[in-house]
Amino acid sequence: MLGLERPRLERRRAVRVGNLTIGGTRPALIAGPCSVEPGYVAQALALAATGADALRAGIFKPRTHPDSFQGMGLEALPLLDEARRRTELPLISEVLSAADAEALGDRVDGYQVGTRNMQNYRLLEALGDLGRPVVLKRGFSATIDEWVAASEYIRRRGNDNVILCERGIRTFETRTRNTLDISAVVVARGLTDLPVIVDPSHAAGRREWVPALALAALAAGADGLLVEAHPEPALAWSDGPQAISLEVLAGLVDAVRRTPAPTGNPDA
Ligand code: PEP
Ligand code: MN
Repeated sequence: MLGLERPRLERRRAVRVGNLTIGGTRPALIAGPCSVEPGYVAQALALAATGADALRAGIFKPRTHPDSFQGMGLEALPLLDEARRRTELPLISEVLSAADAEALGDRVDGYQVGTRNMQNYRLLEALGDLGRPVVLKRGFSATIDEWVAASEYIRRRGNDNVILCERGIRTFETRTRNTLDISAVVVARGLTDLPVIVDPSHAAGRREWVPALALAALAAGADGLLVEAHPEPALAWSDGPQAISLEVLAGLVDAVRRTPAPTGNPDA
């Protein structure tokens, strides 16, 4: 244990991301393609029509190989603006550096720190200074304590708008892309007042396994899901094999709506 000293609050913390409350009366569903593509606005409208609460809007992609598609970058900003205006949904976009976050500014409602950057402490501090909500993914080799400690780098700069996201860790298993650590939901919620959500997509790596992992996360008391979904999964520019269709996403929307708030959440 790292001996984190934050006192246990009587009530859990809800985090507002645009018009969405994460950690409130019901789990939240954030969905969208792995990366923003030229057809993003139409995709966003289709995703919004399923009832998703917020959109993935990644324009900077941290890819394992430098030859892989790196995201559309700032060229995609007009697509984000239009998708946000027409869907009226909050956008969450991954940043790899403080410069990325500053370039996005308030054109997105929340930033995402990916698994590879969980321990980029200067980035976390910069996001602490900016004050906007941050979805902090668990490093794929990070312990739960290291993940919660990373959240403190953001909070110590005065930004408590942090949402923890379990996305699978690296184990000896190779059938799945990562191993979803469901226990992390329960354990992290016991260690911190922050909402904890789950990304079943990067854990599974295959779309047919995503719904079961998503339901398992809800059963474990997750405050929400972050899911890769695409109107035409086979055509996705990145992570197509794990993208779920709109029909499957609509099923998850139903499941989320039927799930009561995890124990102890504020009725925000
Ligand atoms: C993503 O959400 O597309 C992503 C890159 O996730 P992770 O950082 O969990 O691999
Ligand atoms: Mn992805």
